[in-house]
Amino acid sequence: MTLGLRKIVLLTLIGFVFLMANIVVVANWVSEFGVSEFAQNIKNNYLTGTAITIIVALLILLVNPKRTSGSKVAGLVRRCPVCDHVLFSRGSYCSGCGSKV
Ligand SMILES: [Zn+2]
Repeated sequence: MTLGLRKIVLLTLIGFVFLMANIVVVANWVSEFGVSEFAQNIKNNYLTGTAITIIVALLILLVNPKRTSGSKVAGLVRRCPVCDHVLFSRGSYCSGCGSKV
């Protein structure tokens, strides 16, 4: 962890403590601007059970794209990990970008 990252974490923590100390003021401020009614409207119209189910299913089905491109289809097709160029030869360098495979 670098020094800059530590400073950012510390400032974020201080800001979080101030926010939690004044949570009633923040809640009144949010309610004053009508954010809670807007959020309730969005929840009632767009976040139905079907939509949440579809979003969760898509999140489960998402896989790491590097893992799929790195997999070999019966050991015949390889792809360059840098430029995703299809490699037909068994050489150790990519013909598209020249990087080592
Ligand atoms: Zn390449």
